[in-house]
Amino acid sequence: MNSTSTPTHCPYCALQCGMNLSPTPDGGVEVLERADFPVNRGALCGKGRTAPAVLSSRVRLTSPLVREGGALVPATWDEALDRIAGALGRIRAEHGADALGVFGGGGLTNEKAYTLGKFARVALGTSQIDYNGRFCMSSAAAAGTKAFGLDRGLPFPLEDIPRSGCVILVGSNLAETMPPSLRFLTELKENGGTLIVVDPRRTKTAEQADLHLAPRPGTDLALALGLLHLVVAEGRTDEAYIAERTTGWEDARAAAMAHWPEYVERITGVSVPQLREAVRMFCEPETAMVLTARGPEQQSKGTDTVGAWINLCLATGRAGRPYSGYGCLTGQGNGQGGREHGQKADQLPGYRKLDDPAARRHVAEVWGVDPDSLPGPGRSAYELLDALGTDIRALLLMGSNPVVSAPRAAHIEERITSLDFLAVCDVVLSETAELADVVLPVTQWAEETGTTTNLEGRVLLRRQAITPPEGIRSDLEVMHELAARLGVEKGFPTDPEEVFEELRRASAGGPADYSGITYRRLAEENGVFWPCPAPPSVDTRSVDPQSVDPQSPDRVIVADSGDASPAVTPDGPAREAGVREAEVRGAHPGSPHPGTPRLFLDRFATPDGRARFVPVAHRAAAEEPDDEYPVLLTTGRVVAQYQSGAQTRRVDELNAAAPGPFVELHPRLAARLGAAEGDPVAVVSRRGRAVAPARITRAIRPDTVFMPFHWPGEGRANTLTNPALDPTSRMPEFKACAVRLEAVPPA
Ligand code: SF4
Repeated sequence: MNSTSTPTHCPYCALQCGMNLSPTPDGGVEVLERADFPVNRGALCGKGRTAPAVLSSRVRLTSPLVREGGALVPATWDEALDRIAGALGRIRAEHGADALGVFGGGGLTNEKAYTLGKFARVALGTSQIDYNGRFCMSSAAAAGTKAFGLDRGLPFPLEDIPRSGCVILVGSNLAETMPPSLRFLTELKENGGTLIVVDPRRTKTAEQADLHLAPRPGTDLALALGLLHLVVAEGRTDEAYIAERTTGWEDARAAAMAHWPEYVERITGVSVPQLREAVRMFCEPETAMVLTARGPEQQSKGTDTVGAWINLCLATGRAGRPYSGYGCLTGQGNGQGGREHGQKADQLPGYRKLDDPAARRHVAEVWGVDPDSLPGPGRSAYELLDALGTDIRALLLMGSNPVVSAPRAAHIEERITSLDFLAVCDVVLSETAELADVVLPVTQWAEETGTTTNLEGRVLLRRQAITPPEGIRSDLEVMHELAARLGVEKGFPTDPEEVFEELRRASAGGPADYSGITYRRLAEENGVFWPCPAPPSVDTRSVDPQSVDPQSPDRVIVADSGDASPAVTPDGPAREAGVREAEVRGAHPGSPHPGTPRLFLDRFATPDGRARFVPVAHRAAAEEPDDEYPVLLTTGRVVAQYQSGAQTRRVDELNAAAPGPFVELHPRLAARLGAAEGDPVAVVSRRGRAVAPARITRAIRPDTVFMPFHWPGEGRANTLTNPALDPTSRMPEFKACAVRLEAVPPA
């Protein structure tokens, strides 16, 4: 780092790689290596390296736009803000507050996500807010909460991966989504551990595996049940752990025993010997973990699917033990923090439930409002988008591009166009912004300060490195101005640190407790893991080990076996969150809580401290192949593009590497279709048709085709995807739907 460079983090995925930004003579920044951040140790993928290009992109929005005579034309900020506030106020007066929708994003900083939730519920008074993270990790969050009482994507740092004996990676292609994280898998193998990858495609990640299981899309639930069946049948359960640390085993066991390996082989296509080998590899080492990503999660049974993998971890005594357990590899840059601070339809800040009276009282007090004035839970993301133009007449959208990223995208595009009013805050004219009545140009990562929480639950400080271009304002300024125009003069600060201070108070005592975290600590400590309550309960008296304060049973004081100083132990929410005493042994009396890298080591965050097995059974995808639609479609990512591509498609180097969509298919399917490499292929589902060039490979199952979803237009993969929702998480079924292929005659 040179003396003028600014340490910060990448704007894209949930790894939140550390980088230094150095000013360039033309007023921009260049990315320099930052080796002190333990997650990436200086390594970056192409997206991170080229991120400054979006700051200075020639298609960057530099002025508000308003729709006049059918076209978007430049306007002043006052004109644009007045128009938004006027429309929102008018529609609220005519149709009620719930006619106003708010849609956020998993890339928004914690401060923005927090303020957006507050803006919806306090300034607009609407219950209709959700965000695109619902399409990302909601099934894992729901399953984790059911089983452990708390969802934090990874309950342990990434650095624990190489110290495990076996890792099962389910539906994650880290080589394309988070390339710097591959080193953890490399180190795992160097240390003698083994890697099992579950993916219908032989991806670059699967190529690294000791064992690759390639189930049919949508059958990961059956696969996990088959593995658990074998664990039981082969006597590999950890009975002592099950008895001491879990509840509900008998029902889960009975459900798994109904899934005979041969039955599972028929459902999944994974052979019984492969199932047995996976069980052997997973059970023989002392430590092992399962990590899931979008593959098993983006299904209409995603919650049960993740639950089945958690059951496998619990039955084998893995969860809540060092270098073992279950974790979710969250995808978006602030996918973790984005789901904790209140932009989700059913949540208040601190990961509190919106329908919990105590939570409402606490947050209302911080916000200075009557708890009864807070609306109740609203619609989930897809349901909200589906209600546009009917129940919801106006939408404020921030940090999302649903025209490309939502399932059944043509229908959602049509819903958006039927709105009475749409306002979009973005940095470029995304496909959704193109449909807006007003577009506001906002600051980007390097032009503003804020915090994110990466996939490990590590809260990080992104620092401003350059001044934004003239004419640009921050999302916080936008919400401040709109709230004022709607008659709410106070409560929407524009300074991110001021917002964070309020967020700390709002989160205090909640499951995701940030109250002990400050900007200063984040800068000095290179991130802090939540929960991190403040101030810690400290007792400087000499006490007996394991003694409990009878006046305050949550306030447990133990002597530190390895330190002369009495140790601080987690109190209240941290203890409920399963924080292990050892995690805070470094804390000295009076010192701040050190944060919680590892959860659940002593207890889970359930009322009785035990993890809960959830009995689950196989069920088919919402749409199975038939005579009309005989092939399965699954969707995913490529390394050079990010999400809907709104930013990365504007970067020349990334576009050169990944210029457009494609249809990956097996040679057998291609031959049946008469398609050669590069020929246009039409993929047709019950929701529409997409056309993209054929990419023929033996790395995919012959019954399945794959499309990346980063592009709009003719090759938009989400035109095809199925919005069938998981009953618990409301996650749409992005990962499996029935399609047919058609040859496209040459133009
Ligand atoms: Fe790291 Fe993800 Fe950014 Fe790539 S996109 S540099 S993996 S944070």
